Amino acid sequence: MAERLVEHHLDGIQLLGHSVAGEETVVSAPQLNVCFDIGKAPSSVLPIDHVLLSHGHMDHAAGVAYYFSQRNFVGNAPGTVLCPTSLVDPLRDLLRVWGRIEGHVSPGKVVGLSAGDEHELRRGLIVRTFATNHGCPSLGFSVIDVRQKLKAEFADRTGPQLAELKRQGVAIQYSQEVPLLSYCGDTAEGGFFELEHVRRATVLILECTFFEEDHVRRAREGYHLHVRDVARILPRLENRWFLLTHLSRRTALREAKRSLSRLVDASVFERVRFLMDARRAAHEPPADPGAPSPSPPAAS
Ligand SMILES: [Zn+2]
Ligand SMILES: [Zn+2]
Repeated sequence: MAERLVEHHLDGIQLLGHSVAGEETVVSAPQLNVCFDIGKAPSSVLPIDHVLLSHGHMDHAAGVAYYFSQRNFVGNAPGTVLCPTSLVDPLRDLLRVWGRIEGHVSPGKVVGLSAGDEHELRRGLIVRTFATNHGCPSLGFSVIDVRQKLKAEFADRTGPQLAELKRQGVAIQYSQEVPLLSYCGDTAEGGFFELEHVRRATVLILECTFFEEDHVRRAREGYHLHVRDVARILPRLENRWFLLTHLSRRTALREAKRSLSRLVDASVFERVRFLMDARRAAHEPPADPGAPSPSPPAAS
């Protein structure tokens, strides 16, 4: 089932994806029914109803038309692609052109969002966007569990008393946000790391494209992160896990791990996983005992 995708389970959240800089990036969280970027639309992510598209670069966006078309082909309800507002028209144009090529237009929703917007994924689960820094229209996405809690001052009331207060219009509950995942897409450093829902998400999914000592400038020019940037950013954050994506094919995983481990404390490094490092994923207990075992590590 997993094709070439690799699988991680971090605090009970299953993440299934593939990410190589410039080639393809797609990271799905099937339990939350979201897929960050679509890459080339691998078949395992097609049943997911929400694609959160961070920006329009081909390695992240190539599969949009195929995603809609395949869902239509197998009889799934039309999917939804959430993306930066400026991509809505060009994506609709793309779908129209594919409609002319195929002879019919595949149904699908394309929803434009700006930084700070929210979209309800299902009751009690929202996605909130934030501005990232990639030199083109780009967004990051936090998936947040919103729980309704009873205010402390009403803790000793009975059920009927609470119902009566509610009827009178008294706000007896407050909402508590638990950010589960935060996906930064392709980005250079930016103010978004100060946002609570980014810095405290259970899993922060972050790019780390460059590792070579003399590639710091290349990272800056391409609005990407160098391992030295990542090493400076991670210790400031409170995430339980950091999942690093978007390594280039030049960088062997062993080298990547070695260079980051030299730059951060062990207490930070032990919270780091590299998406394409399936062997590390096998050390995490699967959330679902019936889930398929991780696929073999990708060639690096
Ligand atoms: Zn990319
Ligand atoms: Zn990009």
